[in-house]
Amino acid sequence: MQVSCATIATPGRVNEDYAVTGPDWAFVLDGATAASGVDSGCVHDVRWLVRRLGGELAQRLAVSDETAPDVLAEAIQATGAAHADTCDLRNPSSPSTTVALLRLRGDDLEYLVLADSPIVLDVAGEIRPIIDDRLEHLPSYTVEAVRELRNRPGGFWVASTEPAAAYQSVRDVVPVGEVRRAALLSDGASRYVERFGLADWAGLMDLVDQAGPAELLRRVRAAEQTETPEERSRHRGKPHDDATALFVRF
Ligand SMILES: [Zn+2]
Repeated sequence: MQVSCATIATPGRVNEDYAVTGPDWAFVLDGATAASGVDSGCVHDVRWLVRRLGGELAQRLAVSDETAPDVLAEAIQATGAAHADTCDLRNPSSPSTTVALLRLRGDDLEYLVLADSPIVLDVAGEIRPIIDDRLEHLPSYTVEAVRELRNRPGGFWVASTEPAAAYQSVRDVVPVGEVRRAALLSDGASRYVERFGLADWAGLMDLVDQAGPAELLRRVRAAEQTETPEERSRHRGKPHDDATALFVRF
């Protein structure tokens, strides 16, 4: 695996995305920015959660032969244990993150997506977006509704305090010999396609392949800056977001 990666914070804020790569695995996490005024039951911030979970996940991917969802479930469990004494892990607003994970395991490439951090695969020349769009289909987006629907059947699933969320991910394996390229994206980067329509998934893949992940992020920021208030009002997402793009060539 040949990996290149870029990440940028929302202007003026700390970056709540986190990307880590090893010789045969890579992942991107995108921490969910806490809604203001909501009691999370947790003394930690979102940045703590993504870094803690990222560390637990990387440590296990480095040494474990278990499947990707098993490894993620254990990492969520261990992250919970790290603040069980100080924080209320039953609080449905406890800090959370998306997961986009790739991992070579024998002759397979495992992929796993939890919430809105997509993976794009180039499988023998066919571009396949791997998308968990359950967040796009909630019956309501009030703070209360989102709290109720998080990590519940019929709602959406994220990595937070519930290890079972790992098994609700969008995941599969493909023969590694067929995979040429992959891109792992936080939604701050995938908005190049999903919000701004500046390319399709194949166009995004070619851009990060040829010009690099940093160029994708530069173009996203440029598009955000020229978005009109009217265009902005049509989207639920923030005007600017942390953005991470990780490109893998096999
Ligand atoms: Zn905590």
